Amino acid sequence: MRCPTCQQSESKVIDSRPANENRQVRRRRECLECHQRFTTYETLEASQLKVIKKDGRREDFQAEKVQRGLTRAIAKSPMPPGALQDIVDNLVQHMGQSMTREIASQVIGEWLLERLKTLDPIIYLRFASVYRGFRDPRDILLELEVLFESKERQLKSELEATGFSSKGLVSAEEPLSGEDLFSGEDSFSGEGTA
Ligand SMILES: [Zn+2]
Repeated sequence: MRCPTCQQSESKVIDSRPANENRQVRRRRECLECHQRFTTYETLEASQLKVIKKDGRREDFQAEKVQRGLTRAIAKSPMPPGALQDIVDNLVQHMGQSMTREIASQVIGEWLLERLKTLDPIIYLRFASVYRGFRDPRDILLELEVLFESKERQLKSELEATGFSSKGLVSAEEPLSGEDLFSGEDSFSGEGTA
């Protein structure tokens, strides 16, 4: 990107943020020669971005396809309005910023799982069971354990950040048993996921 003042082509990015509803990335740059600052808007060309599928085939990345897949996977789970669109916008922005040309479909799947995990445990499990192709209920239990452990770690670090001791919490090394998961007031009840 040539400096508009001295035409030199080396610049460094000093700030980068989404613009135009995440369809572009706005970058503040500084010319390495004359230190003039200027702004560029970069648009991700979706056709340039390839998704590497499990079987090794490559196809053009399509945000709409990700959104359709997500919508289908989470079925009728209640979602905050716009949350799904936000996740997809975030993904597009994330990929635009990393300037990757090819991305494995698994990487996209794992990225989506991470986002859903923090959004809503039920929606996360629905998506995980479709995405990972669960056939055995034990797979769901394993996933629940992972979920509980990460929640616990989050809780622990929040407690530690506020100066509380994390003693008394189940240690993350000790996985919860199936009985633990479904007894007690704290388990999933299938309703009131908020
Ligand atoms: Zn310059």
